Amino acid sequence: MGRVFVAGSINMDVVATADRHPRVGETVAGKQVLYFPGGKGANQAVAASRLGAKTTLIGRLGTDSFGAELRTFLNAQGIDPGSIKETPETHTGTAIITVAASDNTIVVIPGSNALVSADDVADAPLAKGDVAVSQFEIPLPTIAAFFQRAHTAGATTVLNPAPAQKMSPELLALVDILVLNETELGFLAGTELTDDDETAKIIAVARKLQAREDQTICVTLGKRGVLALASSEEFSVPGRVVKAIDTTGAGDCFVGALASQLADGVPLRAALAFANAAASISVQRMGAGPSMPTAAEVAAIL
Ligand code: ADP
Repeated sequence: MGRVFVAGSINMDVVATADRHPRVGETVAGKQVLYFPGGKGANQAVAASRLGAKTTLIGRLGTDSFGAELRTFLNAQGIDPGSIKETPETHTGTAIITVAASDNTIVVIPGSNALVSADDVADAPLAKGDVAVSQFEIPLPTIAAFFQRAHTAGATTVLNPAPAQKMSPELLALVDILVLNETELGFLAGTELTDDDETAKIIAVARKLQAREDQTICVTLGKRGVLALASSEEFSVPGRVVKAIDTTGAGDCFVGALASQLADGVPLRAALAFANAAASISVQRMGAGPSMPTAAEVAAIL
């Protein structure tokens, strides 16, 4: 059984709730302040670890109280903390989220995440059969170095290019499995896509993006499930019909679950069905990290 290595962001999400958003220059009284462990890297590592994969998270925290709290949280999730460095020169990554009525505003300050470097991934003990996962909340040259190292070791690389930003053809070519939603696909391919687009159109756009013949692209479609393009086949896994209450972190749950299955040697189609089921559980619970299911919970609905 392989291991999952995630190189990515770790944030404290500070959520303030109020009846309405303040106007510029205005102060309003809020109702509550809540603290949630977050960051796409941490969320995906938590999902993989809860689902039983031996998981290492490569990232950086500040030496502040958020950093200490997040380290305690990640340890409690069974994640190997050996590769999480401390950065006294800056603060822990933080997202300031204001929720009023059903709208939110978010300011993300990368802090220590911006300092995750190629040196940090240089010693990752990747081996054949392992899965290397990353997202776009750490510097892109670090991801390229991580994936190069993974390929040298015979590991599989999984990229979730979120939040979307342009990447070099060289980085895209280092990706074995690209997992993205239709908005991110549209952005990277330079074609606008919406939730309602026909499968055939989404497939055509994804094929345009494909950098290598043996590259797999998985397009997550929210409640419609996931569409996959592999070298010799195209297939979809329909979404599971559930009552969604909070879709925050659904994509992160999906990626972490997929990585856990691939590390276990599960073939792509079955791994995607598992990830789709895992993510359908996460949307029925509040929050990102705390909503990630266990392997037993997923097995019970498959
Ligand atoms: P993101 O959060 O990155 O936008 P999606 O919204 O595409 O990603 O969701 C990722 C996965 O989560 C989907 O492919 C699906 O498996 C699951 N999912 C999301 N929303 C729902 C839903 N309303 N019902 C069932 N499954 C869902």
